[in-house]
Amino acid sequence: MSGGLYERLGVKTYINAADSYTMIGGSRMPPEVVAAMAEASRHFVPLEELHLRVGARIAELTRNEAAVVTSGAAAGLTVATAACMTGTDEKLVRKLPTLEGIEKCEVVIHRCQRNGFDMAIAQTGARLVEIGDVESTFAWQLEDAIGPRTACVVYFTSSQYDRGALPLADVIRIADARGVPVVVDAAAQLPPVDNLWRYTRMGASLVIFSGGKTLFGPQSSGFVAGREALVAACRLHVGARISIGRPMKVGKEELAGLLAAVERYVALDHEAVRAGHEALVGRLCAGLREAGYAASRQYPGPTGQDYPLVRVDLGEAPFSAERLAAALREGEPGVLVALTWDRRDVLLNPLHLREDEAEVVITRMRAVMADALAEAAELPGTTGAARSPDSNS
Ligand SMILES: *Cc1c(COP(=O)(O)O)cnc(C)c1O
Repeated sequence: MSGGLYERLGVKTYINAADSYTMIGGSRMPPEVVAAMAEASRHFVPLEELHLRVGARIAELTRNEAAVVTSGAAAGLTVATAACMTGTDEKLVRKLPTLEGIEKCEVVIHRCQRNGFDMAIAQTGARLVEIGDVESTFAWQLEDAIGPRTACVVYFTSSQYDRGALPLADVIRIADARGVPVVVDAAAQLPPVDNLWRYTRMGASLVIFSGGKTLFGPQSSGFVAGREALVAACRLHVGARISIGRPMKVGKEELAGLLAAVERYVALDHEAVRAGHEALVGRLCAGLREAGYAASRQYPGPTGQDYPLVRVDLGEAPFSAERLAAALREGEPGVLVALTWDRRDVLLNPLHLREDEAEVVITRMRAVMADALAEAAELPGTTGAARSPDSNS
């Protein structure tokens, strides 16, 4: 299953039925992406010129005015925030993260959208100004929060952060009327493919996507797209020169790899991809039900994306979702699954599964179930390979 490399290093490889988690490597790059990176690695090129050309091409492909490649969506948050703070003033670019001479030093954010990634905003030195609470936010709270110091409003568009937040269209209308840019973090919001241009068409100034998730690009890549003037400011922060973005620099390999990934993604037969996801989900549901699980199709994707998942309800099962996940992870081959927010049920994601891997997932889950049932009946385990999930506490 693993190539020689990971075996030599003693690092286990897994089948990913979970999601595009950074902790497990994001996604797998298709051959054309790997080939583009290898080709890029063979030459010296003027990096800023390459940045410009790749950015222009990604803008065209994603139907945006302009785009710039970053070392990921989190870096995109830092770079976009920094751009809104400094504009294209090269003197100010050198000041961050001190706020010396920087008037636009506040970023407005919904309290209900605060999450781990907003550290990427704060590391510019910007102060986060929260609006609303976990349950609700009012238009007047946004209006009151915006002032002469406001660099931008950052908005996380994900079903995870919808509850209590103002609709994006309202945020854009209010911020726009005050000349304040709206930055949308849409890191994992694909499919549908038209999300690549949806938020900027709605009027967002900048939108951020991760390259290493659904785009299947290099793990350390992403891009910021939107208005030319702000993207021009972003370019000063992407690390070709000294700036707060220098530790998040983008190499020529990532530039080439992300471009190949975006080219591939927009050219995909999205209906065929959708049918593939549905087929995988259908097969997993059928196989798992046969193995004694309460498995059903769930829609939409984990943070509101347009693809289905499999939900495995562990309510009646002889083991908990956490036990099942651990048994699958520790087994051979290792299988990674996601848990629901309440950690009661298991979610299987088709995004990174090949058909043959889905069969392995079914086989492994069947073995875990069989072992647990055998143990419950005080019979010896039926499959030596799969330990009972309840016997290894
Ligand atoms: C994954 C994610 C990021 C970070 O993306 P990277 O490309 O891994 O840096 C940022 N924001 C959100 C909402 C994400 O889901």
